[in-house]
Amino acid sequence: MKNINQLSLQNEMSMYNRRRFLKNLSFGFWSGAMMLPYLSAMAGGSDLFDTGAIPGPADAITDALQSGKKLGVALVGLGKYSEGELGPALEKTKLCKLAGIVTGTPEKANKWKKKYNVPDKNVYNYQTFDRIADNPDIDIVYIVLPNPMHEEYVIRAAKAGKHIICEKPMAMTVQECQAMIDACKKADRKLSIGYRLHFEPHHQNVMQIGQNKIIGDIKKIICDDGQVQSEESPWRLGRGVGGGGPVRDLGVYCTQAAIYTKGEIPVSVIAKYHPKTDVEKFKLIEEGMNFQFQFADGSTADCKVSFNEKFNKLRAEGTKGWLELDPAYEYKGIEGKTSSGKMDLPNVPQQTLQMDDFANCIISNKPTRVPGEMGMRDVGILQSIFEAAETGNKVKINVNHVMDPVGNKK
Ligand code: NAD
Repeated sequence: MKNINQLSLQNEMSMYNRRRFLKNLSFGFWSGAMMLPYLSAMAGGSDLFDTGAIPGPADAITDALQSGKKLGVALVGLGKYSEGELGPALEKTKLCKLAGIVTGTPEKANKWKKKYNVPDKNVYNYQTFDRIADNPDIDIVYIVLPNPMHEEYVIRAAKAGKHIICEKPMAMTVQECQAMIDACKKADRKLSIGYRLHFEPHHQNVMQIGQNKIIGDIKKIICDDGQVQSEESPWRLGRGVGGGGPVRDLGVYCTQAAIYTKGEIPVSVIAKYHPKTDVEKFKLIEEGMNFQFQFADGSTADCKVSFNEKFNKLRAEGTKGWLELDPAYEYKGIEGKTSSGKMDLPNVPQQTLQMDDFANCIISNKPTRVPGEMGMRDVGILQSIFEAAETGNKVKINVNHVMDPVGNKK
C-alpha cells in the first residue's frame, strides 16, 4: 500500500515528466536520427509517462545532420580509454569520425591504421603533433593522455587551430586550466571536457529531479566511487608522469554528481584520507578518501573514493522522496530508482553522444554544456578537497558558478 506522500510524489513526478516530455517533443529534443534508437530502446519498457522522461541531448542535431558534414577527430594517446571506449564510440557517431591518431608507439599506430582505416598522412607522434595544424581532415583533437599532460597538449592543439575535447580531470591545477582556456579563447576554438555522464539519461534525469525539487529540498547526497586499481597504468598510482590517485580519477565524478543533483556549488569541504592498507602500492598516492561537501542551506554531500575497494553509487534524499543510481558512473548498466519507482531509462552509448554533441556545437556554433570553465571549476574543488585532507580544516570553496543547463533549475 502506498501512503499519501508516496502517491502525491508519484503524481508530481508523473505530471512533471509528462510536461517535460511534451516540451522536449515540441522543442525537437530527441528528434530525427538521435531519437530513433532511444525510442526503440524504450519501447520495451513501461509507460513512458510514468518514469521515462529522458531529457535528451541539449540540442536537436537535425540541422547539423542534414548538412551531411562529419568532423574529423584525432585521438591523442591510445591507451585504455581510447582503445576500449573512444575508438569504438567513434564508429557510431553521426557528426564526427575518427580521422587521425597521435601515439608514441609505432605498433599501436599500425594496429589502429588497420582497424580504423586511418591514412598514413593522419598519423602523428608527440614530436610531429604540431603539424596537425596543416591537416584539414582533423577538426577536433581529443586529449586522452595522463592528467599532467593535458595542459601542454590542449595548448598545442589550440595553437594548431583545432577544437578540443580534454579528458577529466581537466588538469592538475586551476592555473593550468586557466592557461588552457586562455589558449583556446585566443585561437577562437571550442574546448570541452570528457564529461560523458552529462549525456546519459539517468544522470540527466537526476539533474532534473534534484534541481527542480521533485523529491523536495535535497538534504543529503551520497556519492561513492571506488575501484580496485591495477598496476596497468603506472601514472594512476603516481609513478612516471604521475597525476593519478582516486581523488583526481574518481573524486571528479562525485564532485560533479553532488553539484548537478543539488544544482548548487558547495560552499565548503572537510576531508580525511583512508588509512593505507597497502603501503607499497599506494606509496605515491592516497589509497582512498572520505570528503563531505556542505551547501549554503546546510545540506551535505558525503563522498567516498578508493583505489582499493569497489563501490559505485549516487543517492539523494529530499524532503519528499529519494533517488538512487547504482551502479552510477559506469559506461553501461546504470540503474536508477526513486521513491516512486524504477527509472525506466535506456543505457546509451555515452561517449558517442558526448562527441556528437560537441561536433554539433561546432557545426551550429553553440556553447558546449561541458566547457573548460566547468573542468576548471571541478579542479578548483579537487584542490580544496586535498587542502581539507592535508590540514584537517574545513576549507571554503571559491570557484566559478558553472552549471549544465540540462538540469534547468527553477
Ligand atoms: P592509459 O594509461 O591507459 O593511457 C594513457 C596513454 O598516454 C597511453 O597510450 C600512453 O602510451 C600515453 N602516454 C604518452 N606519454 C605518456 C607518458 N609520459 N606517460 C604515460 N603515458 C603516456 O590511461 P587512460 O585510462 O586511457 O586515461 C587517459 C585519460 O583519460 C586520463 O586523463 C583519464 O582520467 C581519462 N579517462 C577518462 C574516462 C572517462 O570515463 N571519461 C575513463 C578513463 C580514462
